[in-house]
This record gives sequence, structure tokens and C-alpha cells, in this order.
Amino acid sequence: MNCPRCNQDLHVSAVDGIEIDVCLACKGVWFDNDELRQAKDLSEPDANWMDFDIWKHEDNFHVSAGKIKCPRCRKPLCALSYDETAIEVDVCPSCRGVWLDDAELAHIVEALNSQINSKTFPEYIPAAIKEALEILTGSESLVSEWKDFRQVLRLMNQRLYVEHPKLYQTMDDVQRVIPSR
Ligand SMILES: [Zn+2]
Ligand SMILES: [Zn+2]
Repeated sequence: MNCPRCNQDLHVSAVDGIEIDVCLACKGVWFDNDELRQAKDLSEPDANWMDFDIWKHEDNFHVSAGKIKCPRCRKPLCALSYDETAIEVDVCPSCRGVWLDDAELAHIVEALNSQINSKTFPEYIPAAIKEALEILTGSESLVSEWKDFRQVLRLMNQRLYVEHPKLYQTMDDVQRVIPSR
């Protein structure tokens, strides 16, 4: 597969037992649907810390035509954003894979960070988020160094695939009207 942004070969890499496809040039990451599912299956019972309000409300999702094509099936991706966050992920409604640009993981973690500031959580949660932000915004920004990376995948899987199935209908409609280039 090639990177949807810069067309370089994607490099297969394993993080915590999950295979992901990484672009070494732009540091974007592609997840096949199976990979997101694996993330869910691998979750430990006590690792639910990331599962608070983020992405909970279906009405806050906005779907628009993405600018890039799915590396798997070559159809246009849909850009999915969430109210008042900088989060924007590119999703393929056909194969249900997800593309994250280099900054997107950091945006997700920042959104988590702003949520924990308004609530009380056990101490390890702010610590984990701080660690994640340092890694993701650092010069290397290697997701494989962040031990709770898997939780982000689990979160995406849970919100996008299980709780908000209607979103796929919307994205499917958007994809259908984007002219294939
Ligand atoms: Zn790239
Ligand atoms: Zn696809």
C-alpha cells in the first residue's frame, strides 16, 4: 500500500501486537478495520481510563468529503471531525479503515487532556496523558513508544464502529457523491 498523502510505500510496523502501516516520510498511520478490532480484543479490563466523554455524542460528529484516497481500496476517504476539538480522522466507509495524520494522535490526546482538567481522575490518568503528549509532540513522535497507544485504537473502534453505526451510512452517502479522480 502507498501513503494517501505522499504516495510513499507504507511500512508495516507492530505496536503492542497490533500491525499498523506507517508512512516514514509524513508519519501518518493507516489502520485496517481488523487492526482496530484486534485493539478491542486485546484490551485489559483495567485499561478503560481513556474511555470518558470523548466522541460520545453522535450529533457532534461532522462528516465531509476527504481530500485523500483510501490506500486499501482507492475510494475517496471521508473526513470525520468532532465539535470543538482539533480532531479530524479520515475514514473509509467501504473497507472501514482509518487514516491518522501525524498530528491527529496528538490532537486526540490533547482532547483527552482538556477533559481530565474538568474532572477528577486517579493520578495515573493525567500521568499517562502527559507521557503520551510528550511522545507525540516530540521530535521523533514514534507512536510505538507510547504504551497506551492501544487505548486510542480501542476508543476509535468503540466509538466509530460500535456506538455510532449511523455514521457509516452518512459517510457512505458522502463517499458516493465525491467524484473519483
Ligand atoms: Zn506519507
Ligand atoms: Zn477503503
